[in-house]
Amino acid sequence: MKRLLLLSTTTGYQAAEFRKAAERIRTPLVLASDRCHVLEDPWRDGAIPIRLEKPEESAAKIVEFARENPIHGLVALGDPVTLIAALAARELQLPFHPPDAVEVCRNKYLARERFRMAGLPVPWYRRFPAAAPPPAPDVPFPCVLKPLGLSASRGVIRADNAAEFRAAFDRIRALLRRVLGEAAQWIQVESFIPGREVALEGIVTAGRLRVLAIFDKPDPLDGPFFEETIYVTPSRLDPAAQQALVAATEKAVAAVGLRHGPVHAEMRLHKGDVWMLEIAARPIGGLCARALRFADGITLEELILRHALGEAIEDLPREPTASGVMMIPIPRAGILERVDNLEPASGAPGVEGIEITAKRGEKLVPLPEGSSYLGFIFARGDTPEFVEQALRQAHQQLSFSISPALPLI
Ligand code: ADP
Ligand code: CA
Repeated sequence: MKRLLLLSTTTGYQAAEFRKAAERIRTPLVLASDRCHVLEDPWRDGAIPIRLEKPEESAAKIVEFARENPIHGLVALGDPVTLIAALAARELQLPFHPPDAVEVCRNKYLARERFRMAGLPVPWYRRFPAAAPPPAPDVPFPCVLKPLGLSASRGVIRADNAAEFRAAFDRIRALLRRVLGEAAQWIQVESFIPGREVALEGIVTAGRLRVLAIFDKPDPLDGPFFEETIYVTPSRLDPAAQQALVAATEKAVAAVGLRHGPVHAEMRLHKGDVWMLEIAARPIGGLCARALRFADGITLEELILRHALGEAIEDLPREPTASGVMMIPIPRAGILERVDNLEPASGAPGVEGIEITAKRGEKLVPLPEGSSYLGFIFARGDTPEFVEQALRQAHQQLSFSISPALPLI
């Protein structure tokens, strides 16, 4: 019997999807999570407690566990756990991305350096110590300020002039006070790259990229904050542009040194070229994976687990339909009171499901400080146009009651 290890910072919905997928392929799945000490054995199966700020120690715990209970593959669910996974995999001689590569993916400055050295187009970029705001910023405008090591567009802010730059810098600095580690010491500034944005979901085997899907992001992402909303696949870009996206991702995979496992890349098309925003050594986040299904109804989670076990997944094409997901943005700060019209919105043509992941009574924090969504809408259909329309219509029908959060006294 083969056993898989899943590393995750949360024991929430994404981890639960992987657990279900493991049950479907009848493979025991052990969890390693930093939440274990709080939730004490959340899955009641002896999860391995790890600590994000102690990657070596955490990897050693996994190796020790594996001595008694052999592990045959591992999957890391988010950027915070990829380094622990890589260190453990190296020790256990399991296929995964090397530690150096995942560190580059987790650090937007190191990633830019690698992309530049590999000859990929990069914007003007420089990192500033977060502790000392530059008094007269000598940067090009418009620009984007961002922390080095957060994700989901948290703390990413566009500035068009010096005043906006200073305000953005201070806002990110305040946010970083609650974040640990080396990456929290810096704020990166990049020139703003205009153009259409896409995401590429792939899986790497022995350094070779297989593209699973290219997602268009049809809503403009011009700032000042960069909220993800709609992802639709297949892409409506012409074949030449799609080929260029694949070629750029292949270059980025090689530049960073990614070897084995899922990758998620984000790019912009600008001046006839592909500008890599980032490449992550993990699958697409949240519940978005549900937008991807493969031959015989196999889910993305299942495909990733099988790949981690070393099975060949090359002959499993994506389903022929168009598919999409909308990450429902948080419209304003407050307390979520109620969600109405779920039934009519779910019943709209093309809509396959709506999952409200925010809880009633939950405090909602919009970008740039926040990092979650209200939920997800899924749609499928014959064309990407139809899918996009279905997502928009369902979203318009939903109604969210959000009451102002009372300030703490
Ligand atoms: P995160 O890891 O938090 O997602 P990213 O670097 O991917 O951070 O930035 C989030 C979003 O901000 C991107 O998807 C893109 O829309 C926008 N963005 C980031 N950097 C730039 C840039 N240099 N030019 C234009 N848009 C950018
Ligand atoms: Ca991103």
